[in-house]
Amino acid sequence: MSQRPIYLDNHATTPVDERVLEAMIPYFTEKFGNPSSITHVYGWEAEAAVKQARETIANAISATPEEIVFTSGATEANNLAIKGVAEAYFSQGRHIITVQTEHSAVLDPCGYLETLGFEVTYLPVQSDGLIDLNKLETAIRDDTILVSVMAANNEIGVIQPLTEIGNICRDRNCLFHTDAAQAIAKIPLDVEEMKIDLMSLTAHKVYGPKGIGALYIRRRHPRVKIASQIQGGGQEKGRRSGTLYTPQIVGFGKAVELGLAEMRSESQRQFELRKKLWQMIKELPGIELNGHYQQRLSGNLNISIEGVDGSALLLGLQPTVALSSGSACSSVSTAPSHVLTALGRSQKLAYASLRFGIGRFNTAKEIETVGKATINTVKALRQANNSTLKV
Ligand SMILES: *Cc1c(COP(=O)(O)O)cnc(C)c1O
Repeated sequence: MSQRPIYLDNHATTPVDERVLEAMIPYFTEKFGNPSSITHVYGWEAEAAVKQARETIANAISATPEEIVFTSGATEANNLAIKGVAEAYFSQGRHIITVQTEHSAVLDPCGYLETLGFEVTYLPVQSDGLIDLNKLETAIRDDTILVSVMAANNEIGVIQPLTEIGNICRDRNCLFHTDAAQAIAKIPLDVEEMKIDLMSLTAHKVYGPKGIGALYIRRRHPRVKIASQIQGGGQEKGRRSGTLYTPQIVGFGKAVELGLAEMRSESQRQFELRKKLWQMIKELPGIELNGHYQQRLSGNLNISIEGVDGSALLLGLQPTVALSSGSACSSVSTAPSHVLTALGRSQKLAYASLRFGIGRFNTAKEIETVGKATINTVKALRQANNSTLKV
């Protein structure tokens, strides 16, 4: 039997935890009801399951259940947040602030709004990937309606200073949205403490199923208005129509519950694995870490490697390890990662980058194997290149 490569692409997606799958299964078959059916037990049991998941997810971020709107994932949540706020607040202002290193699910809705006459400021980041809070302060204008800054970056894992950003936005009276797809149940999130008004979530980065996510929309202090982007049966109080996907919602709730319960120990464990991997790889000359070393997700390591070709590197590693260069999205395009270029990396170094995404099911032995394979592949490529660097 041929061995499958070690999975180290946990920022692209994660496997569904068996415990999550187990919780979901009854809701495909015997408990298949439509949670909107109020006249029979099939509807009631589905509704009860949705209610429980909604409470779990709300509690995880210190929100209330009414503030959670289920969506098909973080992409849809980002679209609903950004376009929904733009449409509801355009009479108060048409300026939006976001960051150059955001996911395309934030950048592209912003770009779309520009075609409709909105103005968008794309804040740069410092070389460590963090935004400069002074630059945020000066970018805010009287007509700024929304600031969208991600919680944790999907390529370099860098965690933005959410509390500080929340304070600035609240002081300056503009709404604060954060894409927390990579952050939920990985780092503590508290919409009250961090003064977050809208937060996008997804299940499949935290060992839940694909195709389900949520948008948190603040209901008080301030009450955030949102224009729905999908109209129909009026589910989710008219904020997002469509029959609720009960099994996926149950799985999302279970995934968040498990993630939270294991957050501390798992974060520490992944941090140790990452430390080990970094210690191994940085013995090579010409290796650069992308993003702040401390202020990042514990399972993320993103490096640029001098003197090698990025695609040759990935190809060489392919039998041993499944990972991506830059982001999963940019690996289908030929452009270098917009995140790495925003850090100031040259095109060449942005190409020759690797994103290691360590997850719940990775072991110390696997990390050891990946570390060795990376070192050997880099050495081999440099030798073949007749690189002037000493290896
Ligand atoms: C994965 C991801 C998304 C997209 O989420 P989907 O649920 O797949 O739509 C958006 N933003 C970030 C930061 C992500 O990592």
